[in-house]
Amino acid sequence: MEDCPICFESFISKCITNCNHNFCKLCLHKWFEKNISCPICRKTIYYYNLDGYEYEVIVYKKIII
Ligand SMILES: [Zn+2]
Ligand SMILES: [Zn+2]
Repeated sequence: MEDCPICFESFISKCITNCNHNFCKLCLHKWFEKNISCPICRKTIYYYNLDGYEYEVIVYKKIII
């Protein structure tokens, strides 16, 4: 059984990012309050798919230089 790399629990509303890493939807939302890159590979994330059906674009609240 695969676990979320942020909360280390089983996925809740599993999301797949544009860099093909999996996280819970809520974990991703929390992560993007402070970060703009993937927690695993550090690529900038532009969007994620929720269970492969929904599609959500990340809107950055602030630009970190
Ligand atoms: Zn999680
Ligand atoms: Zn990644």
